[in-house]
Amino acid sequence: MSLFDLKGRVAIVTGGNGGIGLGMARGLAQAGAAIAVVGRNLEKSKAAAAELDKLGVKTDVLEVDVTSESACRKMIDDTVARFGRLDILINNAGINIRKTPQELTLAEWRQVIDVNLTSIFVCSQAAYPAMQKAGGGKIINIGSMMSIFAAPFAPAYAASKGGVVQLTKSLATAWAKDNIQVNAVLPGWIDTALTQRARQEVSGLNSLVLMRTPAKRWGVPDDLAGVAVFLAAPASDFVTGASIPVDGGYAVQV
Ligand code: NDP
Repeated sequence: MSLFDLKGRVAIVTGGNGGIGLGMARGLAQAGAAIAVVGRNLEKSKAAAAELDKLGVKTDVLEVDVTSESACRKMIDDTVARFGRLDILINNAGINIRKTPQELTLAEWRQVIDVNLTSIFVCSQAAYPAMQKAGGGKIINIGSMMSIFAAPFAPAYAASKGGVVQLTKSLATAWAKDNIQVNAVLPGWIDTALTQRARQEVSGLNSLVLMRTPAKRWGVPDDLAGVAVFLAAPASDFVTGASIPVDGGYAVQV
């Protein structure tokens, strides 16, 4: 299965300490990659790394706020210093502030855009020299169904996630010559801390998701493991600039 073999590869997963990021990290670790777990909450990150250690791979824990350019650049440098290389960057850290456009403040707008979109530009730019020098790399950006659709309570979130798709295409076209593939994953509704909060804040969300999702269930973080391995592995060497829904059919049903 060398098409999906990640032994000897090194991955950074932002927001890898829980939810979708940890689901993806588990997949990469099962395929053999060493993982740098990145988040703000150090205790959560240590617990996630301890879980990944049990899969027999090397791990590191980095306390990083991805809205800080210097912290993002240091994250890349520290990972290369620790493991000697960087092959895979998963830009997964994300937040939502659920308010209508008339309620959302400019500071809140900027916060969501900074975490969900600007950090992807900064971290990818910082990773580029190491990947270029190594002769290639894989960048996986996490979008959303709100990269395609919208909702009244998510103006900044939908704008940021729409931007993720276009930024992914831009990076893909620029860096294909360097054998760096850049793709996006668009998760459907996945049961995580983020959406547990959404269920409290948006009335009727649970029934809406179950009704609207052809698979008739919420996704779980491990549903994202397979696509992460595919996009991180040699199997996807001619796939770049794509946005792949992992959504139980949500995006194709009227
Ligand atoms: P979680 O809230 O479980 O995870 C969010 C992660 O992002 C945490 O690990 C958190 O780490 C990290 N994070 C947030 N802000 C920062 C920051 N400033 N710097 C560093 N890390 C940060 O949510 P999900 O797992 O659901 O979300 C993961 C991604 O998937 C997000 O981009 C989200 O938009 C996207 N997504 C989720 C969907 C879902 O249904 N759950 C659907 C579509 C997309 P820490 O706590 O340490 O700060």
